[in-house]
Amino acid sequence: MKANDWEPILKLVISQNIGFDCASPGEIYKVLKLGASPTSIVFALPTKTAYQMTYAREAGVKHTTFDSSYELKKLKQYWPDAHLLIRIRVDGECIYKLGEKFGCDFETEAVALLEEAAALGLKVVGVAFHVGSACSSVDSHAIGLQRARKLFDHEARAGRQMKIVDIGGGFMSDRTDRVDKVAQQVNTALEEYFPERDVLVVAEPGRYVVDSAATLYNSINNIRRVTKDNKPVNMIYLNDGLHGSMRYAEPWTTVEKLSIGQKNGVEIDQEELEEAILWGPTCDSTDRIMEKAAIRLPRCSPFDWLVFKLQGAYTFVFHGPFSSIEIPLMRSVVSLELWNKIKDHPVFSPEDFVSNPDISAPLPSTLPPKIHRDQINGFNASLLDKV
Ligand SMILES: *Cc1c(COP(=O)(O)O)cnc(C)c1O
Repeated sequence: MKANDWEPILKLVISQNIGFDCASPGEIYKVLKLGASPTSIVFALPTKTAYQMTYAREAGVKHTTFDSSYELKKLKQYWPDAHLLIRIRVDGECIYKLGEKFGCDFETEAVALLEEAAALGLKVVGVAFHVGSACSSVDSHAIGLQRARKLFDHEARAGRQMKIVDIGGGFMSDRTDRVDKVAQQVNTALEEYFPERDVLVVAEPGRYVVDSAATLYNSINNIRRVTKDNKPVNMIYLNDGLHGSMRYAEPWTTVEKLSIGQKNGVEIDQEELEEAILWGPTCDSTDRIMEKAAIRLPRCSPFDWLVFKLQGAYTFVFHGPFSSIEIPLMRSVVSLELWNKIKDHPVFSPEDFVSNPDISAPLPSTLPPKIHRDQINGFNASLLDKV
């Protein structure tokens, strides 16, 4: 959910019988309203408020995670019948280290927490971990499975049976050979540590699923050509930035000029490349896109467009209210093949699909409503008026 909660994507997920990792009542509401079943949700937030617990319980959600003693005490009071997954820390080599925030140490903390849960009469049904987002080490999930097995064994010795192992997310989509290697290691580890077939294995891939689902097209508002270290640099001001869809530039983020074939008889890709700095649309001086990358682009002009690929995960979900900037416009496109598979699913309504769309038609505007000077009261005396 947190990687991309756009409604058409959520509907597609429901239509494929895939469940959700939700991390707030807002996310739970969003998927339930679309018709998802509450038992397809893991409320995978290890630290919840009383309100959040009550909300989930009343909505019929069953599963959640914990990694602390206080959380167990709160659960005892507000959600005593929850099916719990103990979140343990497993750190892969990753860009976003979730282990620094969540997950108990499986050697020094987990057993005590399992014992405390049992003493409180709470039901721990499994183990969950997350190796960190954008994880580049292929063996991390397997290490997590090994640790999970030890906790399954502890519970079994105490006469309690766990049933779920949740290997979280962290999978990268940019190189399929890497995810294949991770899958291989996970399957081998499952054979080794969980040969019994009655253990449910859950994964929560976020980035992997939606990364390639969206491409971002930014229009250029303005360009200033300046000199830096005796070299010309094009400062390009775009219509989206850090406060919109581009909060995180990943090491693999790329940018190119939208090519519409030829310009003045020159193939675009043969144009000379120049150093560029990409600025977002706000007055915030930190609103600079891909700051750490050395960007080289052909000479652009206002009304050219830049294209950023792989922008489906952790992009527009971060759009904030800062400076009241416009939210990006989204147009969804589905292949005929996929459309034929999903069009009759009850989660979709006929209006969700347009056949033979006029793709040159503008998208609905996200600009503020127009306001005409005749409609304005003008309560505050203005000095500017006099000059
Ligand atoms: C963010 C998150 C995910 C998804 O992580 P990705 O790195 O996008 O795959 C899965 N599970 C939990 C608990 C998360 O917090």
